[in-house]
Amino acid sequence: MLEHYGQPPPRVPRDPLSQLIYSLLASRTRTEDSDATMRKLESRYRTGNAAWEALRDAPLAEIESLLQQVTFAEVKAPRLKAILIGISERYGRLTLDFLEKYRTEKIREWLENFEGVGAQISAAVVNFSTLRRRALCVDANHLRVVQRLALTPRADAATTEMRLMRLIPEDWNALMLDEHHALVKLHAQTLCVFAEPRCSACPLLSLCPFGQKAQ
Ligand code: SF4
Repeated sequence: MLEHYGQPPPRVPRDPLSQLIYSLLASRTRTEDSDATMRKLESRYRTGNAAWEALRDAPLAEIESLLQQVTFAEVKAPRLKAILIGISERYGRLTLDFLEKYRTEKIREWLENFEGVGAQISAAVVNFSTLRRRALCVDANHLRVVQRLALTPRADAATTEMRLMRLIPEDWNALMLDEHHALVKLHAQTLCVFAEPRCSACPLLSLCPFGQKAQ
């Protein structure tokens, strides 16, 4: 895929809390819409390097109205507020920078204790943010490509990530895993789209049971 798509642009990592907020918005939402919504939240609630207390303390209806561009705003707004309150209560202040000192598994477990944070979001936080740990964010796009290629048996994101990590070389570092995720996402959004994948143009066709069956 690297030969076909070229090197993805490097990511500018967010701090862990900002990445968590972004990942909550981004689930099942187009990148342009989650990016635009994140910009709205940042300009409204975040000035300079201040943390996200103003978002945590904002009225729920106000947060929900700012989330209108993302899917399930009515679910994501209360969940986001509850998570920000929960972090403040559990840690004593609103930050996730302290996670840096924990092992990756412990960080993911800590994050997944919050309702609405599953393997996909915890992987995004540890891999994409400044934490930069080894993890593979298996979102809906990634899952679709993996299942069509029959790389692992059909399963949920957490199990699929675990199985894929067994196939991935152990010397792939966090940046390589992030790059791999970006390439799979690009593939899922250009050729291996949900409806009518463009299999005849796909560089993976010879390896893909789904694509070959469709020819
Ligand atoms: S051959 Fe088709 S289904 Fe298989 S990975 Fe390529 S685009 Fe997706």
